[in-house]
Amino acid sequence: MVQHRFLLVTYPAQGHINPSLQFAKRLINTTGAHVTFVTSLSAHHRIGNGSIPDGLTYAPFSDGYDDGFKPGDNIDHYWSELRRRGAQAITDLVVSSANEGHPYTCIVYTILLPWAADVAHELHLPNVLLWIQPATVFDIYYYYFNGYKDLIRDNTSSGTNDALPCAIGLPGLPLSLTSRDLPSFMVDTNPYTFVLPLLQEHMDLLERETHPTILVNTFDALEPEALKAIEKYNLIGVGPLIPTTFLDGKDPSDKSSGGDLFQKSKDSPYLEWLNLKPEGSVIYVSFGSISVLEKAQMEEIAKGLLDCGRPFLWVIREKVDKKGDDNESKEEEEMLSCREELEKLGRIVPWCSQVEVLSSPSLGCFVTHCGWNSSLESMASGVPVVAFPQWTDQGTNAKLIEDAWKTGVRVTPNEKGIVTGEELKRCLELVMGSGEIGEEMRRNAKKWKDLAREAVSEGGSSDKNLRAFLDRID
Ligand code: UDP
Repeated sequence: MVQHRFLLVTYPAQGHINPSLQFAKRLINTTGAHVTFVTSLSAHHRIGNGSIPDGLTYAPFSDGYDDGFKPGDNIDHYWSELRRRGAQAITDLVVSSANEGHPYTCIVYTILLPWAADVAHELHLPNVLLWIQPATVFDIYYYYFNGYKDLIRDNTSSGTNDALPCAIGLPGLPLSLTSRDLPSFMVDTNPYTFVLPLLQEHMDLLERETHPTILVNTFDALEPEALKAIEKYNLIGVGPLIPTTFLDGKDPSDKSSGGDLFQKSKDSPYLEWLNLKPEGSVIYVSFGSISVLEKAQMEEIAKGLLDCGRPFLWVIREKVDKKGDDNESKEEEEMLSCREELEKLGRIVPWCSQVEVLSSPSLGCFVTHCGWNSSLESMASGVPVVAFPQWTDQGTNAKLIEDAWKTGVRVTPNEKGIVTGEELKRCLELVMGSGEIGEEMRRNAKKWKDLAREAVSEGGSSDKNLRAFLDRID
């Protein structure tokens, strides 16, 4: 087998960096490959050099926003600089490595960075998209850009959170989808207008190839139909891309992605507190690394948690102000009217080691925004969820969790778009209670945990898919 050298290019957000770093480790452990990990300096500064596995090198580049993109910065300028400077940086890396006699053999790039594939084409290098969302979401985007736009837009024209009575079916996908189940960027009120053109560019690039392979952070048993829905593409499951300690336990040092962009709680021994709680008793609440909830919504979550009366661990990230400084005033947390009562029952932290939290036997339920990494991490730990999606792919992920895998229940917002404390409590009682529904979700969560672990074990479907892909680029 060829000694591979991969250039792995990733958008500088937590939900992109975590699975990419895991994929890098998977490549290194499977083939002894060398991986150069490329992302913006802004992210690299925050990650630091921590513990870098053998075979991995960081090659950060300046996108012109070295202190990170801040509220108030010009979004169009940011994206054009990221593209211009990123393309130049990877071109320079490829050329200089070849000149030094260590040529790269493949460029792997994640979503929102189609220019990485352009560079690879220009330099005649094999390249592959690492799709870090479910295969189902890839398919929905594919259909949106290939004949189904009107059908989808007709169904989403009245807002993100409405579960419209009419549902649409898309070829090869088993679930029918209503407005709230579709990626939020397709809704006509979507303010992130730069996203769809980038996704279209990805699809156009794939069109140029014959039967291209797309590596997907999923596994065969999880999305069998979605992986096969588009015949002209070869979607292969190589996930779940999460630290191996939580999958096969073989490498106890691989406990985190190693790419945290946020500081973990220093002064609160939350893991010790968690592990002392009875089995299955604690609620974990987190909305990931990007979403910021309105004050009214935070108050309702607090109310629901207090009414539920179970211990909880709640991640409330510190706010970033206009200048981009982490705001030490902890405005968001302090605004909670019942902070003292909350602290008697649970713990509030600005960031935690999520995979460690999810693997604690004390954990009973994850109230999650359904980011794809959080969804896979809870699945691989066998933790049922209350699905509380916000935007992007999260509505689709919530649909899969509730209706395909049946490992959780989804909240229903009221007419103002707020999920009330009462509604949250109702969902928590369903998932954690002793009734038939809760029992079934816990049984399903256990089943999916076993299947997720099987997929990445030696000879499992994701392991075989990755090896077959590597053989093809030899
Ligand atoms: N995460 C973490 N600690 C926290 C909250 C989140 O380590 O306190 C990690 C989590 O394990 C996941 C990532 O951040 O790997 C969030 O990715 P996801 O796709 O779930 O959501 P996003 O942040 O992209 O919305």
